[in-house]
Amino acid sequence: MPTTSPVPDVPLVVVGSANVDLVVRVERRPLPGETVRGGDLAVHPGGKGANQAVAAARLGGRVTLLAQIGDDPHGELITRALRDADVDFPELPHRDRPTGTAMIVVGPEGDNSIVVSPGANARLSPRDIAEHRERLFAARVLSLQLEIPLATVTAAVRAAGPGTRVVLNPSPPADLPTEVLTRCDPLVLNQHEARYLSGSDATPEAAAEALLTRGPRSVVITLGAEGALVAEGDGTITRVPGVRVPVVDTTGAGDAFTAALAWRLSEGEGIVAAVRYAVRIGAEAVSATGAQSLSPRGRAIAAAGA
Ligand code: ADP
Repeated sequence: MPTTSPVPDVPLVVVGSANVDLVVRVERRPLPGETVRGGDLAVHPGGKGANQAVAAARLGGRVTLLAQIGDDPHGELITRALRDADVDFPELPHRDRPTGTAMIVVGPEGDNSIVVSPGANARLSPRDIAEHRERLFAARVLSLQLEIPLATVTAAVRAAGPGTRVVLNPSPPADLPTEVLTRCDPLVLNQHEARYLSGSDATPEAAAEALLTRGPRSVVITLGAEGALVAEGDGTITRVPGVRVPVVDTTGAGDAFTAALAWRLSEGEGIVAAVRYAVRIGAEAVSATGAQSLSPRGRAIAAAGA
């Protein structure tokens, strides 16, 4: 009997960053050349790719993350966190750069100053993508952000199969090649990113329409407490109202939202229903009910204490 190799069932593949967040709370920021005393250091896994992979897995998704980490203790911390969340995290070669780090100083008003050192994230290459071409080709959803080299994002989009839905969160915002934009379904972004990429200060609806003319098949703009907006290729625009919750910490709301959206889409849900679900998960991430917070950085900031 002829044997056919089974097509791997890969619902959701995230290609993105993995960082360790180092968080210290201070009464006052140091001036240049000055030293100040801070609270206890909190060390926590983060990075948009890892955050989204963990959040989607916690919601029940089967998730693979392609990310580069260093051959160092921070890399081990990230690996453990991903394995604990049941994220499939294949080891990639060339671990010769330190694990990416976000150094976060939290001021007395809860305001963050952050220095990001991309480290190994800058090492995630089109060659790594080529190594995992089959997974990407078979994925139902491929989820991307921009904390890794744009050439790698482009390679991942090229490797996606015809049945793969590409969800891209352009954060931090950057100009995207048309071949990437035209595969996005949706491009999912917050209002700052929408303003940057559309070049428009007008309403979110106008920004979404302007973005659609650049090629994505659909656009989702998150509107903080106001929920989100979905603009589909046929011109339909739907506002999904926000969920009123007590706000504890808004950090990571966008990552929780995008993870929930990507997961529901990988389950075959329609985009408006998936956004309704994602709005609820975003609200949970900012609220007190998120004691199991979907925001690792938020938890780290809480852990860093006053
Ligand atoms: P980002 O975190 O990327 O800046 P948003 O602030 O738009 O993105 O938040 C993403 C999602 O998180 C929103 O669409 C919403 O579902 C939820 N959210 C954010 N802030 C609030 C809030 N104050 N109240 C309720 N939900 C919120």
